[in-house]
Amino acid sequence: MNPLQQFVAELLEQEGAVVEPIEPEGLEVLAPAPLQQALRLPELARLGFGAELPADAQRVSLESDWMERLAGLLAERGRRLEWIVAMDNPAPGSPERILQHGLDLLNATYRLQGVEPAWTRYLILRFRYAAVSDEKRDGILELGFNLANGATLDELLAGLVAGAMELEPLAAPPTGVDLPSTWQPQRLQPILERALAQRVGRQLEPFLKGMRRRQERDLKRLHDYHNDLRREALERLAVLPSGELNEKQQLERQRQQLRLAAIAREYEAKVNDLRQKYAVKVTLEWVQTLELIMPVQRFAVLIKRRKRERLLMLDWNPLARRLEQAPCEYSYTWERPREVCDEALHLLSPAAHGPCPQCGRAYCRVCHPEKCPKCGKTTDPGSVLIPLGSQQTGDGTAP
Ligand SMILES: [Zn+2]
Ligand SMILES: [Zn+2]
Repeated sequence: MNPLQQFVAELLEQEGAVVEPIEPEGLEVLAPAPLQQALRLPELARLGFGAELPADAQRVSLESDWMERLAGLLAERGRRLEWIVAMDNPAPGSPERILQHGLDLLNATYRLQGVEPAWTRYLILRFRYAAVSDEKRDGILELGFNLANGATLDELLAGLVAGAMELEPLAAPPTGVDLPSTWQPQRLQPILERALAQRVGRQLEPFLKGMRRRQERDLKRLHDYHNDLRREALERLAVLPSGELNEKQQLERQRQQLRLAAIAREYEAKVNDLRQKYAVKVTLEWVQTLELIMPVQRFAVLIKRRKRERLLMLDWNPLARRLEQAPCEYSYTWERPREVCDEALHLLSPAAHGPCPQCGRAYCRVCHPEKCPKCGKTTDPGSVLIPLGSQQTGDGTAP
């Protein structure tokens, strides 16, 4: 069965229908009255999911109005899932090497103190984004955090979720396990704003590139056209004698000068139109939350910078078989490497520990989120995120 057919079959069965697969790629459905109403179906219906439909079947596809009918039936169900899994959790071999490969610190030394089995809680959020300009692009963005330490799961995410979904869930974590608590919205909101903006930007990069190419092409066409008109008017002016002009020549000069002014005005207006045509509006909407609770191997890493030390915990995940990356505790970027600040040994991307644009003093955006500690210039969070190179608005709704 294709995934949509499978999903519809399971959903309808859950809603009390009797469902039989039929060929080619279809379902025969005997629906109870409430389901008939919700989906606008007769009591006995045939549905088709492939290119070829079974006889008398309605087509169910991602493009059909069936998406709305199914969404109406689901309503708010399926938005949140807590998934607790357990599995064999042997410690990985050569943890020193794993750490060396996984932790990239520019200005501090570190030492692995030990590796212990532990449990953690992952928060995995799914968003739908849409970018609208002269064209439209939409898609799904997944963002995951380890709530024990704020590490983002970028490279681990696919393997982790797919692996966990294949396991039988437990009703509750084993007694006595220590789990990180969930994050309150006040904590999550600023992190999401920074982490999402960059990731949406990354996902939209090809779309934005294509759009910029079209914009440049249109701008060049506009420029060339008006440049030709302008040259023509200038040539007409150039053939007029330089001395006294007769009445006819004076009129011609006036006409060409007016024409030049009109060309300049029109050019400016057309450039403005293009700017509007290619302005990008990006929206982001929360769709689903998955809380995944599972065992990990916890690496205790002692970080040293000058005379200070900080104990950092990093989890190695037995499903993804990888060590997570140390978070940038300001931007939550997936990019490496990390630096640590002098004051509190915060972990930072080089940009979040970078120089103030006004006075040049490097400072930690976690210690000083509001403004530069030397000159007082207000911190612009956008300046430490990966630049999009285009206008963007995001309204990340908190789950
Ligand atoms: Zn700091
Ligand atoms: Zn400054």
